[in-house]
Formats: sequence, structure tokens, C-alpha cells
Amino acid sequence: MSNILSYNLNEFIKMAASFHGSPAPGVLIGGFMVDYAYKHLPKGGEYDVICETSKCLPDAVQLLTPCSIGNQWLKIVDVGRYALTFYEKHTGRGIRVYLDWKLLEKFPQIKGWYLKLIPKKEQDADSLLREIMEAGSDICSLEEITVIIDPVNKRKNSSITICPSCEEAYRSEDGAICPGCQGGALPYSREKNLRHTSVDFNLSA
Ligand SMILES: [Zn+2]
Repeated sequence: MSNILSYNLNEFIKMAASFHGSPAPGVLIGGFMVDYAYKHLPKGGEYDVICETSKCLPDAVQLLTPCSIGNQWLKIVDVGRYALTFYEKHTGRGIRVYLDWKLLEKFPQIKGWYLKLIPKKEQDADSLLREIMEAGSDICSLEEITVIIDPVNKRKNSSITICPSCEEAYRSEDGAICPGCQGGALPYSREKNLRHTSVDFNLSA
């Protein structure tokens, strides 16, 4: 049975269950994708990751690499493709690993899951897991890529100011009021403010 980096499969399934809530097929396949990428990356480099879906796959990256959403070494560009790009953070040189539907003929359960050909309630979880373990990274393809590193668009450590509308702190470069108050950004409406203190803001201090 193949490993995922330094973990055996049972260990990784437990890690996925604990972190993700369940050992979802997408996280397990993601584990093999990360392992496959690491086999092709020069050792000792500093790599950032772009994940092309927000579903399942980012958690495989966060479980197995130093890259997380919070440290921003993992970025999600949700174009809905099952793909990971690992690139050297200074040069942008790297590789992209993707789940390749053309390689799924031998794996009908994975194909049915990935292309949503089999409704979820009709999926056979055990057969799917068996196929995922059998396939490993054989269902992935690889390409060389270069990420465009744009220093201009790297967010500067901009100054912080207080929004005159909500009175919360935000990046001053985002406008005269915070993006939350500019509208459209957040999917909630405020019902009741339970703010417990009221202070005068003195930004010149
Ligand atoms: Zn505001």
C-alpha cells in the first residue's frame, strides 16, 4: 500500500477524518496529489500553493504542507477545477497537478464521483475508497507552470483606520468606509448590536 508523504494511508485517513470532519474522497485524492507534487519538486525549495477549488482539496494541503489559508502560503482561486499548483515563491517556477478524467477509465467509482455521474446516495463508499487507494496518483497529470509574481499587487502592510459607519478597524486603502459597509460583500444583515463599550477614537494619538 502506498504512502502519502511520511504517513501510511490509515494514518492519513485518520488525519483527514479529524481535520475535515470525515475522510472525504476529495481529501484522500488530494493527499495523493500533494504526495505526487512533492515527488516532482526539487527538495528544499520554498513553495506556495494555489488551489483551484475551495472544496476538500485545500484541506489536504493544510494537513500535509506548511501552507495554510491563514499564513497565506495557500491561496484558493476557485475556478472549480481539481488542481494544485506548487511554485517557488520567489521565481514562480513550479508544477501543477490535476485530477485527470482521462485517466479514470479503470476506476469507475472515482469517475462516477468526480464527474457526478453517480448520485451521492447511490455511491458505494467502500468501493470508492478501494479505488482511491488502488489508484494513488495514477489518476493525476502534471504540468510545468510559471506563476506570475506581481510585486505591485502584493498587499502592502497598509495602515489601519476606523470605519465611521460600523466603528470597526479596517485597511485604510480600502476606502472612506470599510468594504463591509460599502455593501454587497457580506451575506448577513445586522439585527442587534451588543457592543459593550463606547470609546472616543483618536487616530492622531
Ligand atoms: Zn464599516
